[in-house]
Amino acid sequence: MNVVFVELDRCIACLSCERACLFQQAELKKGDRPNIFVNVDMDRRRIFTGTCLQCETALCMEVCPVSALTRDPETEAVVVDKEKCLGCGMCVTACPFGYMHLDESLRKATKCDLCGGNPKCVQMCMARALHFGSINSLAELKRKQTDLRLGLRAVPDHEDDDQ
Ligand code: SF4
Ligand code: SF4
Repeated sequence: MNVVFVELDRCIACLSCERACLFQQAELKKGDRPNIFVNVDMDRRRIFTGTCLQCETALCMEVCPVSALTRDPETEAVVVDKEKCLGCGMCVTACPFGYMHLDESLRKATKCDLCGGNPKCVQMCMARALHFGSINSLAELKRKQTDLRLGLRAVPDHEDDDQ
């Protein structure tokens, strides 16, 4: 399963991902908030950027009383059927990461749907902090970066040129 994941040590909190998502939501009339969130903790000088992990066991799907949340067969993203959604907010409460929210004007649940398999936030991240791929590919990326730092790989693989 492919998800959007963040390399936090690359994120510079430029907010381009939030703006790209907001624009996409507004254009498709899907909501009035972005579905990726950039939080800056000034006291601890840390940035926390994140979006829906499309959990394999998705608690939001499990608690929805009207089965308004389903798994897209093509992208495997958890998606909201706005026609069915009651706006009860149970999915918002159930999400352990806080990545589900209610659109204030529509009173419907809204979340990252991976832009149909071509996430706009990833395209707009100039710092290359955002990636779209499997969780395993994140582990592989980190392993390669560590190898390079330790000198275990003298010449970066072609795909490392982007990192
Ligand atoms: S666009 Fe990239 S660098 Fe900018 S806030 Fe989003 S994740 Fe961070
Ligand atoms: S807000 Fe909508 S999607 Fe979420 S649990 Fe309620 S009916 Fe289901």
